[in-house]
Amino acid sequence: MLQVSITNQKQWEKMLATKGLTVVDVYQKWCGPCKPIVKHLRKVKNELGDVLLHFATAEADSIEDLKMFRGKCIPTFLFYADGMLVGVLQRANPPLLQRTIVKQLAKEKQSLNEGGQHKPVRIVQCTFSFPAGKSYTVAIIKPDAVSHRKTNEIIMKIQESGFEILAHKKHTLTEAEARRFYQHKAEEPCFQDLVQFMSSGHCHILVLSHTDSSVNVLPAWLEFMGPTDVSEARRAKPECLRAQYGTETLHNAVHGSEDSNHASRELAFFFPNFRVEQDGEEERVERTLALIRPGLARENRGAEILAQIHKSGFTVSLQREVMLTEEQVRLLYFKYVNEDYFPALLQSMTSGPVAAMVLAGKEAVHHWKNIIGPSDLDKAKAENPDLGAQFPVENEPISHIHGSENQEAAEREISFFFPKQNTLAVIKHEAMEQHRETILEEIRDRGFSVTQQKEMVPSRELAEELYKEHKEKPFFNQLVDYMCQGPCLMLVLTKENAVEEWRVMMGPSDPAKAKETSPESLRARFGSDILQNSVHGSSNVQHAEEEIQLIFGDISTEEELSNTETN
Ligand code: GDP
Ligand code: MG
Repeated sequence: MLQVSITNQKQWEKMLATKGLTVVDVYQKWCGPCKPIVKHLRKVKNELGDVLLHFATAEADSIEDLKMFRGKCIPTFLFYADGMLVGVLQRANPPLLQRTIVKQLAKEKQSLNEGGQHKPVRIVQCTFSFPAGKSYTVAIIKPDAVSHRKTNEIIMKIQESGFEILAHKKHTLTEAEARRFYQHKAEEPCFQDLVQFMSSGHCHILVLSHTDSSVNVLPAWLEFMGPTDVSEARRAKPECLRAQYGTETLHNAVHGSEDSNHASRELAFFFPNFRVEQDGEEERVERTLALIRPGLARENRGAEILAQIHKSGFTVSLQREVMLTEEQVRLLYFKYVNEDYFPALLQSMTSGPVAAMVLAGKEAVHHWKNIIGPSDLDKAKAENPDLGAQFPVENEPISHIHGSENQEAAEREISFFFPKQNTLAVIKHEAMEQHRETILEEIRDRGFSVTQQKEMVPSRELAEELYKEHKEKPFFNQLVDYMCQGPCLMLVLTKENAVEEWRVMMGPSDPAKAKETSPESLRARFGSDILQNSVHGSSNVQHAEEEIQLIFGDISTEEELSNTETN
């Protein structure tokens, strides 16, 4: 079995006693472990084939150490090196998870070579996806509270009070780090004591947001900690954390960022990878759904709206016009069906075609919401002339431009308007040896999920069936002969609009033409002539279904879609 299953404290301790790197998938009893990721873990294991690499699943509900991961079904992987927590990865996509495993394993080996010396926490790789529009703050459980064994209790209280822990690591500050962290207090008389104290033992560093998106977490956390001076805290706010866990002004148990500038500096200080991930290669491009409601779509101002969209830095990655049925409007706005205004909304939404777009960009959900402004147009006009207010429709007080409320809604709405499609892709045998990996990588980079894959030398019958539309063509026999000559990689690619997008990626059938009209395409780069053109793709949705059925038999759509690499 690839993953050791941990469901009790004894098994957990056994894991902690394991030499090497253990990647633990933390799951909630009611969700179960993450199945789609298993194939990626297996791939890593096969590739690295390392005796030092172990995998486990652990039920948060039954393991004391995992208390802080209880109750939320966020994909969470913990990295333990020789029993010590060295990394936390949440909401990562499979490629990032794979890269992190490779990196952590390399670090583990390096530390073995250096005589098994572990630094308390060597790296914590963390990818957060901040819920759109939410603020965050950095909190520290200081060495006094940690050495008094109050960490878990404090974390419980934090969570019970509606804070959400986006990231968490245990860390011992060096003196130099403590000095740098508190540099703004360097002139204060207590500075040296503060540095001494803060570097005297473990801290727990938390990145917090609030589960209620209308709450600004920064002041909420300062309030929850209470006054700096512990005796004042006890007098004025006996229920606050410092009153309960602090002992004196210096040893006051917890820290919080003073304002949002501090918060971002402190985040960068403790989670430098977060910065890298935000600004560097890992940057998460987010998607949101934009709708132009019928009233406005009728007015033919699409070009103006698009111009605004581009000016605001979005890429329109998908776009279509669609007439919604009443049933679909109910599904889309299921939250509002009982509202007074629902009949009017329904009336308006079904009165003509809706223009739907998927907008991609940094923090797209939040950014787009900001640009379109409030749905109440009078309010929008009063605040500032944002996009919604610039495109009013006569006699209607409601904005005709829609944006998804949050990331979950965005994904739901995108799949509503742009259901995922499957297409068959084949890497033909002449391209297998040299270009297979590049092609696969580019497929993933373009956001396709490979939901089925099979390497095979097609039989004559299979090749004839696959190309049956060309039976009458002069090149048919030659084509079939050629396809049976070596192992091809058969792939089912899944994405919105997959059929067409894969064809665009392949380019024209004839590489000579491809070189002229789309030099970036696969066939332009990897094909040698019209027969040996490196890849195949279904020509339309119906062919895709038939071809997939032919090669892979029945693949249930439901199961495939739950296997896709969203996130
Ligand atoms: P595709 O959908 O872009 O792959 O192109 P078609 O469905 O039109 O053709 C299927 C395959 O047959 C192509 O990928 C080529 O490998 C091959 N083919 C198409 N046209 C010719 C031709 O004129 N001569 C030869 N030898 N092969 C061709
Ligand atoms: Mg074809």
